[in-house]
Amino acid sequence: MDHTKKGFNTICTHVGELEDKQFKGAVSPIYLSTSYAFEDVETKRYPRYFNTPNQEALCKKIARLENGEASLIFGSGMAAISTALFAFLKSGDHIVSQRNIYGGTANLINEEFEKHNIEFSYVQGQSITDFVDQIQENTKVIYIETPSNPLLSITDIKAIAKLGKSKGIITMIDNTFASPVNQNPIDLGIDIVLHSATKYLGGHSDILAGAVVGTHEHVDKIFQVAKNFGGSLSDFTVWMLERSIKTLGLRVKQQNENALFLAQWLQENNDIANVYYPGLKSHPDHDIAKQQMKGFGGMLSFELADGLDASQFQKELKLIKSSMSLAGVESTILSPSKTSHSLLSEEERAAQGIKDGLLRFSVGIEEKEDLVADIQQGIEAIKKKQITLS
Ligand SMILES: *Cc1c(COP(=O)(O)O)cnc(C)c1O
Repeated sequence: MDHTKKGFNTICTHVGELEDKQFKGAVSPIYLSTSYAFEDVETKRYPRYFNTPNQEALCKKIARLENGEASLIFGSGMAAISTALFAFLKSGDHIVSQRNIYGGTANLINEEFEKHNIEFSYVQGQSITDFVDQIQENTKVIYIETPSNPLLSITDIKAIAKLGKSKGIITMIDNTFASPVNQNPIDLGIDIVLHSATKYLGGHSDILAGAVVGTHEHVDKIFQVAKNFGGSLSDFTVWMLERSIKTLGLRVKQQNENALFLAQWLQENNDIANVYYPGLKSHPDHDIAKQQMKGFGGMLSFELADGLDASQFQKELKLIKSSMSLAGVESTILSPSKTSHSLLSEEERAAQGIKDGLLRFSVGIEEKEDLVADIQQGIEAIKKKQITLS
């Protein structure tokens, strides 16, 4: 069947599906073989070569979702990110990266690159001139992440892509927070799109996986390194991820809707000091977000009003769980200063605008009224306790 002109949810449901020729089952069969008879000398199927039937099928779906030519699926987001970076950077090269990126990616750059004699420069803000200023003769990669964690700052994807093209530098984006539902960076000129599929692509907090998407040429270059690094995903998990992606469009649509509703509700609430959500007109990057995103995503963050304790509030929540990960169908909340950004000093966090009372909220698919009610009762509970104490 020709899926080239199909809409997003149809791609999610059908592209790449394997036909069960034997029993006519409704879903893709799962092939667990690590050994396949040679079809010809060229075709050597092996899980670490990223070419088992289930791997190839899922790659087609993910490539299509991002409007790329090809894709590879990895055992984690970090496997995808590290393999892609090492495919395009060698000793003596230089990378310009946004400062405000996923902690694991920053650790990879800070802890591994020097060992391989790869130079790096960070760009503090999101301004394009700051990126231009950091470019050197040996710069081979520009790396961005938007929306970023935890303040949902937005980088101008088109401008970055244009900059890369004008200088012959490969551009890479971590598109995890937006998901392919809300943002397709390849359409805006970016070379390589990276995903932690552990997040929205998986969506149920039960899969660890990653993906890269790009042209055949770029993905082949990444594959040449990937087969040496060995970060492929097991076919069991490949199959689960295929199943999860069938509902990607529906889940994220609901998460977009809930997050926008909650962001607006929080903004109106006197017990909330600040709300950070790119869908709010008050967000400093709202205009760029509107240009490059189809929806504003399920991630937001906020600060309680002065005198209301964030960690007490977290403890009072009943429906919204405090948890490290994000993007599941269930709503979760965490304190960046106590978790993802705890290794930074208070001054470093302040420089990034991350206050100690900031809470990052991964909005799930629950009914929005129930989420509002939980937040409301959480605030009332800490207020009551504070009155009793004083
Ligand atoms: C979680 C995450 C990663 C890393 O993915 P893993 O699957 O945990 O390896 C990378 N980037 C972003 C934005 C993430 O949220």
